[in-house]
Amino acid sequence: MLINPLRYDTIFEKTELHLLLSEYQDGLCPICNTSLNDATLKELDHNPTVFELKEQVFRAIQIRNGYDPLDMRLTNQKLTKIISTSRRVLEEIIKNILSTQMFIRSLHKKCHSTIDRSLGQQEKDFLKRAKGIISKDIYDRLVEFRKLIKSIIKGHRIISIAQSKAISSRRQEQQLNSSDDFIN
Ligand SMILES: [Zn+2]
Repeated sequence: MLINPLRYDTIFEKTELHLLLSEYQDGLCPICNTSLNDATLKELDHNPTVFELKEQVFRAIQIRNGYDPLDMRLTNQKLTKIISTSRRVLEEIIKNILSTQMFIRSLHKKCHSTIDRSLGQQEKDFLKRAKGIISKDIYDRLVEFRKLIKSIIKGHRIISIAQSKAISSRRQEQQLNSSDDFIN
């Protein structure tokens, strides 16, 4: 079970999370490798990307339905099965994937928007590929299904176990240091 010690639902806590993640990343943005310290505009980013996570979710659903997970060919029948997955099962699959693999990174806002654009393109390409194969009705449901996966992923604001350990030990150090200051 992963616990987010920072509960970054508020602006202050989000800022704090950026600070701590930036320390964890040695003060660097992993995209452009330059300093994050002076940046006023930052974004939190999922790693793996939401698009990669969607692919993993699809593979997991394929396994559940007895399809070869490595066979990424799209057929009407396969997609109909995939998009009929219940929300409960979908949430379970996503939680399993995220609990073992998800990391959050702090990025410059401009670096994040570059990634966002290329992810948007990957999603468009995927949907375009599907559109040529499946019926209009299934296509519309597929688009909604992909949006649902994304919203469930974004709803899981968790950080990895390694990150939360590193962050809490840093917090303890900081608290120790500040209490030293107080005594001196
Ligand atoms: Zn950057």
